[in-house]
Amino acid sequence: MLDRREVKRTNDTVRTAQGKVARTPLTRSEIMSRVKSIDTTPEMALRRRLFSAGLRYRVQYRHPQTGTKVDIAFPAARVAVFVDGCFWHGCTTHGSHPKNHADFWEKKIAGNRLRDQRQTEAIRATGWTVIRIWEHTVENDSDDAVETITDALSLAHRNLGRTQAGGRSHNKGPA
Ligand SMILES: [Zn+2]
Repeated sequence: MLDRREVKRTNDTVRTAQGKVARTPLTRSEIMSRVKSIDTTPEMALRRRLFSAGLRYRVQYRHPQTGTKVDIAFPAARVAVFVDGCFWHGCTTHGSHPKNHADFWEKKIAGNRLRDQRQTEAIRATGWTVIRIWEHTVENDSDDAVETITDALSLAHRNLGRTQAGGRSHNKGPA
């Protein structure tokens, strides 16, 4: 299978004299043409890691009370995971705006960030745990991302076990 992440890296990164990888600015059309791979590739990588770790999850799950689409959801534990693309969600390390149409991008990304924040608060208000993971965390240290999620799941199962004494706290999902 074609590894899209590798393709992306060769296209938009350059090596500096120190051997460090730096991202080159993208044009608007380059960005638009890559929306899909930017949004999905790190998420898919993370899903593969979670699956290998024995975890089972729902993808693009509609959170019942808010209707928000959750990237990776664990409904039994009430844990919602979002993988935020550095560009679209305005990561401070890689989220610099393109020079062209700077106002457009600034507004667009500020709007995305505000929406992220509201969705997070709304989902948390229903008793769910919300984890937002940056795309760059998945790319640089997926162990860290997996650990964050497994820790949250352990905690959620413990808490649910407490509130539903004698309930289904040992039910870890479909067989
Ligand atoms: Zn980033």
